[in-house]
Amino acid sequence: MPELVFFSGTMDCGKSTLALQIEHNRSARGLVGMIFTRNDRAGEGKLSSRLGLVTDAVEVGDGADLYAYLVDHLSQGRRADYVIADEAQFLAPEQIDQLARVVDDLELDVYAFGITTDFRSRLFPGSQRLVELADRVEVLQVEALCWCGARATHNARTVGGVMVVEGAQVVVGDVTGSADEIGYEVLCRRHHRRRMTAATAHAAALSPDVLPVSSG
Ligand SMILES: [Zn+2]
Repeated sequence: MPELVFFSGTMDCGKSTLALQIEHNRSARGLVGMIFTRNDRAGEGKLSSRLGLVTDAVEVGDGADLYAYLVDHLSQGRRADYVIADEAQFLAPEQIDQLARVVDDLELDVYAFGITTDFRSRLFPGSQRLVELADRVEVLQVEALCWCGARATHNARTVGGVMVVEGAQVVVGDVTGSADEIGYEVLCRRHHRRRMTAATAHAAALSPDVLPVSSG
């Protein structure tokens, strides 16, 4: 039975690397994938991983109908044996419904990869719809760590290293983070709640006014 699988996690949990690996393994077996993405860090029409691997993909625009796109593709006699949707948190809920229809009506496996929650720790609409519709949700076990060493489970948005909790849900930032640019950092829940990023924790540690309290 074909499946809609949602591989979810935080920013640095290796989702795109896994997406590329699935693509590689299946193409090695002669299967052809349809790869959708949106707002990848490598630019339009690319699926890239932090490790530097990249492949071509179809950039999903606002209002694009993914089911219709596949029907059109197949009716031209072109192949698609399975579907990968990376950065699926950026897809509209309707587009997730279209992916479910691809599974049910076209009988293709769909592997969606996405960040679960935004920088305010709220579900992205696309991720919420995936949780609602997916046959299976795989939470990627995060190797990413907070600056304190705990498992990083939350995404923070930073401006100049300082965590912010207001602003548009989607701002594609520079995760390498220079001075006043918007960046992203993964934190444990405790430090997300306290809004302590690596930069602010470092500054606090250097301040002689701060006692080295380790109250959890
Ligand atoms: Zn922490």
